[in-house]
Amino acid sequence: MEHTNLKPATKFIHAGLTPDPATGAIMTPIYQTSTYVQDGVGNHKGYEYSRTLNPTRHALEKNIAAIENGNYGACFGSGLAAIDCVIKMLNPGDEVISTNDLYGGTYRIFKTIFEKYGIKFHFVPMGDPSAVAQYVNENTRLIWVETPTNPMMNIVDIKAMAAIAREAGALLAVDNTFATPYLQTPLDLGADIVMHSATKYLGGHSDVVMGILVVKDEKLATEMYRIQNSSGAVTAPFDSFLVLRGIKTLHVRMQRHCENGERIAHFLKSHPKVDKVYWPGFEDHPNHEVAKAQMSGFGGMISFSLKGNKLEDAHAIVSKVKIFALAESLGGVESLIGHPATMTHASIPKEEREKSGVVDSLIRLSVGIEDAGDLVADLEQALA
Ligand SMILES: *Cc1c(COP(=O)(O)O)cnc(C)c1O
Repeated sequence: MEHTNLKPATKFIHAGLTPDPATGAIMTPIYQTSTYVQDGVGNHKGYEYSRTLNPTRHALEKNIAAIENGNYGACFGSGLAAIDCVIKMLNPGDEVISTNDLYGGTYRIFKTIFEKYGIKFHFVPMGDPSAVAQYVNENTRLIWVETPTNPMMNIVDIKAMAAIAREAGALLAVDNTFATPYLQTPLDLGADIVMHSATKYLGGHSDVVMGILVVKDEKLATEMYRIQNSSGAVTAPFDSFLVLRGIKTLHVRMQRHCENGERIAHFLKSHPKVDKVYWPGFEDHPNHEVAKAQMSGFGGMISFSLKGNKLEDAHAIVSKVKIFALAESLGGVESLIGHPATMTHASIPKEEREKSGVVDSLIRLSVGIEDAGDLVADLEQALA
């Protein structure tokens, strides 16, 4: 890859991109076309049909492959469509070991879509890697890791999981949505597949829904592209353009998300009505040392619970904030607030979600890039 020696900030802006060959346009045009005229039978310019490949999507696929330090990228209509592609690489009888505390939609597609095709899922706390090995057997084909986890901000040791996967002859996939390649590059730590909901930080402006996979290995890439083309859950040229545009500012946005996140995490920790604050930057976070080793910053995602653990108190706070918007999703420039138990994680049974810490008073923040003082003041009045 031509861009491997460049620093992240330079790669985000330039990797995979060349001026438009037809016009010299510095921004990759939105190639809003389904098909491509061929000079003769089988004689085309690399593009035949836009489900298979489209130039705008292709530019983004090359860009994201480079910034994740992989070789091959594939873009899908949503993060879940990207996850769908990974599980379709498996066969009936195969087993998956997954992080137990994970994005609600990931849990749902595993349980309600793929289980009926004969794939077995084990949902396991991964804070301590030695607890994972006991689920490995001869059918284990995939370890699915989310780190930091949503919404409990647990940290999974990617290198340790890679060692377990290698030993088991299984693939390791990492959902890198929360960290982004600015803070963490799982392929460098031994992962085989990196997955993104580009809907979040990569897009960064709450205006697109997209999923991305990146791999290093050529055989795995062939399988990924075969499923992408055969199942057809591809992303649109305009959406590809938006995410390419978003990635150009990923590093500056992430720097501010991290600064604001740190300020708010400390504010919450000292507030008398707050019980626990979940943020990997705290020294007393159970896997703070792992976070420090595998991430270059702690991000802008924070969860906290309230003293007394009352659902009504959490609902009151999320409705009293004025700058934080009550909404699902995360990773945009604007700050969002959510209540996992009734929003993102409502599809996980109460008993199951409480086991992983998603209690009734838990509130999740996606700290945006507004003025940190204004954000603190907003939370202060809502908590009062
Ligand atoms: C949002 C999200 C997904 C799902 O992505 P969509 O783009 O909404 O389909 C998967 N994993 C994580 C961590 C997410 O935040």
